[in-house]
Amino acid sequence: MHLPQDNPTSPYWLSEGSSLSKHRTTEELPSEADVVIVGSGYSGATAAYHLLEKDDSKRPSVVILEARDTCSGATGRNGGHLKADVYYGAAVNERLYGIQVAEQLSKFEVDQIFSVKRLVEKEKIDCDFELTRGIDVFLEQARLDEAVASFTDLKARGFQFPDDLHFIQDPKKAEQISGVKGALGAFSATAGSVWPYKLVTHLLHRCLERGANLQTYTPVLSVSNADDGRWTLETPRGKITAKKVIVATNGYNLLPELADKITPAKGVACRIAIPPDSAKPAPHLNNSYSIRYGLGEYDYLIARTDGSIIVGGAKQAVLKQESYWHNNADDSSLVPGAEKYFDNYMQRTFHGWEDSGARVTDIWTGVMGYSADLLPWVGEMPGKPGLFVTAGFTGHGMPRVLGCSEAVAALVRGDVASLHETSVPQPYWITEDRLNVQKSVVKDYMAGSRKL
Ligand SMILES: Cc1cc2nc3c(=O)[nH]c(=O)nc-3n(C[C@H](O)[C@H](O)[C@H](O)COP(=O)(O)OP(=O)(O)OC[C@H]3O[C@@H](n4cnc5c(N)ncnc54)[C@H](O)[C@@H]3O)c2cc1C
Repeated sequence: MHLPQDNPTSPYWLSEGSSLSKHRTTEELPSEADVVIVGSGYSGATAAYHLLEKDDSKRPSVVILEARDTCSGATGRNGGHLKADVYYGAAVNERLYGIQVAEQLSKFEVDQIFSVKRLVEKEKIDCDFELTRGIDVFLEQARLDEAVASFTDLKARGFQFPDDLHFIQDPKKAEQISGVKGALGAFSATAGSVWPYKLVTHLLHRCLERGANLQTYTPVLSVSNADDGRWTLETPRGKITAKKVIVATNGYNLLPELADKITPAKGVACRIAIPPDSAKPAPHLNNSYSIRYGLGEYDYLIARTDGSIIVGGAKQAVLKQESYWHNNADDSSLVPGAEKYFDNYMQRTFHGWEDSGARVTDIWTGVMGYSADLLPWVGEMPGKPGLFVTAGFTGHGMPRVLGCSEAVAALVRGDVASLHETSVPQPYWITEDRLNVQKSVVKDYMAGSRKL
């Protein structure tokens, strides 16, 4: 089991704080609840939100247990990029699951962009949500050739890519449209950017108004089955029993069954801005980006309306040793080489930034949950009625979490009898067969073209 560490690095996203950061709704830990949710990140908060959304006879009592500050895991420290994978992983997904499911996997992510938009509008959430064009820029010819070949092949075989996906083949145009130096080609599609911490804390406020009890600094040490069919969660502050449990701890394994299925993986992100006393405004950047280098190596980047940039990735430069990231749940230190990598990043990557004076203002690490087959684990644990999971988002949770939480909440409330009745793609479902697969592709995926 991995527990969140003390003294984590400080992400920019937490700079404005929240009244919920160290919140305990009641002084004492409640002794029971209908539903206990473990984790107060995007998954835990949205699961709670959907459990409590309807004011009907099925609305449960909900306790949310969080090991550290509210939303201090990956959600409070990510890149804020809400971007669906609409073509890059399609060929692999098609090979593994067939065209129909591969299309479904991509559609599920695209839908999330608009689900988040609708949620932000409905709840009037002040979280800097913007709809963007997410541009995937290729800087290595071999990688571009591969992507184009599989895109063309799938298209010829009837794979339905969204109409919104646009391929920019001419390198001159790719460089001009993206503004990225040395762009060889690019794909673009609708994406989003968001301040994830504000999104989550807003939803948690709503949940508290609807009766939820949030307990920070309450790490769950174990979940066990009580004789009466209920679940007992042990914490340093005592025990709590629940009819149902939702484990939303992403990279921090809590359940033995998932120990070799979800691996904590350390990642890094930073904020870059021009000096506050600069005479010139920051150069304009009105897209969000993935900038692809070698195999599986890319940076992701959003532009904020204050002119600053949030960028993460840097795998190829910083994940040089396996121990830096693999099975590493330590977000209290940086990754060696990360600061140097992001120094002068905008100047060397984008046209027009050369004299901007842009520099790193904040840099931090966070813990992602890498799944053995690179897909999230969602649903009720086989043979463990009442124990639900939504976790393992593999560094790509923003376009996946909301739909998974909504489905798990519907299962827990009894609004649906199984995931068949939800939009969660079948490869995400927790099944006995999937649990029995021994293979993990995490290391190969992370290593990309490097030898680790
Ligand atoms: C540096 C970085 C950059 C990223 N950038 C992006 C991006 O731009 N776009 C994207 O789509 N995804 C990105 N991700 C991934 C994304 O942040 C995650 O997929 C998503 O936030 C997962 O949300 P979650 O709620 O499931 O997990 P988390 O936000 O990690 O929440 C889990 C919570 O559970 C708590 N917890 C853990 N164990 C226990 C326990 N035993 N008891 C009580 N509480 C516990 C943790 O403290 C934490 O608050 C990034 C991740 C990192 C680290």
